[in-house]
Amino acid sequence: MKWNIPTLKELEWLIWRCTACSNCRTAYTYGPPPSNTEICPAGVEFGFEGFMASKGKIAFARGILNGELEWTDELLDAIYKCTVCAGCANQCELDHKPYIPEIIEAMRRRAVEDGIGPMPTQKVIAQSMRTYNNPYQGPRRVRTDWTRPFKKAKKPIKNINKEPAPILYYVGCTGAYNLPVRGVPVATASIFQKLGLDFGILGEEEICCGSTAMRIGDAEEFKRVAELNLEKFKWLHENRGVNTIVTSCAGCYRAIKKDYTMCEDKGKMLEGVTVIHTAELLNNLYKEGKLKFSGSLPWKVTYHDPCHTGRHLNKFKFDKDGSVAWKDAYLETIEEDCLYDIPRELLKVIPDIEFTEMDRIRDNSYCCGGGGGCMTGYGDWAAKNASKRIEEGMDKGAEHMVSICPFCHYNINQGSKVIKSDMKLYDLVELIDQVLP
Ligand code: SF4
Ligand code: SF4
Repeated sequence: MKWNIPTLKELEWLIWRCTACSNCRTAYTYGPPPSNTEICPAGVEFGFEGFMASKGKIAFARGILNGELEWTDELLDAIYKCTVCAGCANQCELDHKPYIPEIIEAMRRRAVEDGIGPMPTQKVIAQSMRTYNNPYQGPRRVRTDWTRPFKKAKKPIKNINKEPAPILYYVGCTGAYNLPVRGVPVATASIFQKLGLDFGILGEEEICCGSTAMRIGDAEEFKRVAELNLEKFKWLHENRGVNTIVTSCAGCYRAIKKDYTMCEDKGKMLEGVTVIHTAELLNNLYKEGKLKFSGSLPWKVTYHDPCHTGRHLNKFKFDKDGSVAWKDAYLETIEEDCLYDIPRELLKVIPDIEFTEMDRIRDNSYCCGGGGGCMTGYGDWAAKNASKRIEEGMDKGAEHMVSICPFCHYNINQGSKVIKSDMKLYDLVELIDQVLP
């Protein structure tokens, strides 16, 4: 399959657009000072002006390209100290705005190509991908451990390799292998069974979507698993009648929806197949009157927007011919693919739920700190950053936080432990499963 993954050199013309204005320091669009606040986790922890935020990283990209900088441990550390959350891209208003996360990842790809990246602590991810087809060093048979309660209850989940079903539930590695997060696939499958949906899983045959490999710059490993997945999805459509792939993982969702678009064959391989997040599926069913609650949940909750179901899915409008501003000028951000309203709508209709918003929400959401390989590469920082998000939720009087990403689930709960908070992050499906008959 042919891929169009840009090299750092191909992004060079954009790298010179940064004026080092520092707009990317704060989430400013929800209100004037003092209500605006930091948006860059790397800048907050390591110093915004000290080359650790986007403008500094773009300066490093220039240095790498023009040969003024050579790889050192410090330079490598600087380009990997970033959650690739795109918070900076959301604030920037210049022409390179849509490409800032891409520039950071292109530097990582260059580091991997040059044989120096990723960070030593992240090399285990790359090795695990090659050995186990997942980033968690998890043997294949462990991938289905979460299905045991269903087998025990004599409600086995269909193995779609053997039996047809219109819906593939693509579980994702974090839900399958990361113990504290296994409640997410369990609740998802439980809801699907309660609703009588005809769905199946790939079981031991499921492999990683490639997101983690891509985020740390290992494009070759990403392409390898992405191609295997695209071939499998095509086969499932043709031989098992799959027309919908549902994922409960923000990382898988972003990877298949966006990263796979860099494959020229994606349209052909996914012809007749729609990829949606569990929140979208359940919201559609709610609107059709098929999701009816019987219980109630008298909790005061707030919602955390994952970067990967939020601003990572922005589309951008450019001045292609220069008729509005100048050729290739950035004109506008289109948020139609971002899952901002759907999870909130669902959350608010759960009986007795009291909902409160944090300040940094939607396109200004503050990253949990776990993305971009940081949970593996810089676990202490990732958890510390997550504790700031927990504090933000507590400041609003919320008892618990809700989200739709197993990665945020794990990391934010780690952050909660750091500050010994009673607040926990639950996945939206964990709440919905409790109130379904
Ligand atoms: S990335 Fe954009 S907002 Fe940040 S310093 Fe550069 S031009 Fe300014
Ligand atoms: S992607 Fe996120 S962590 Fe990285 S420089 Fe931008 S705002 Fe900071």
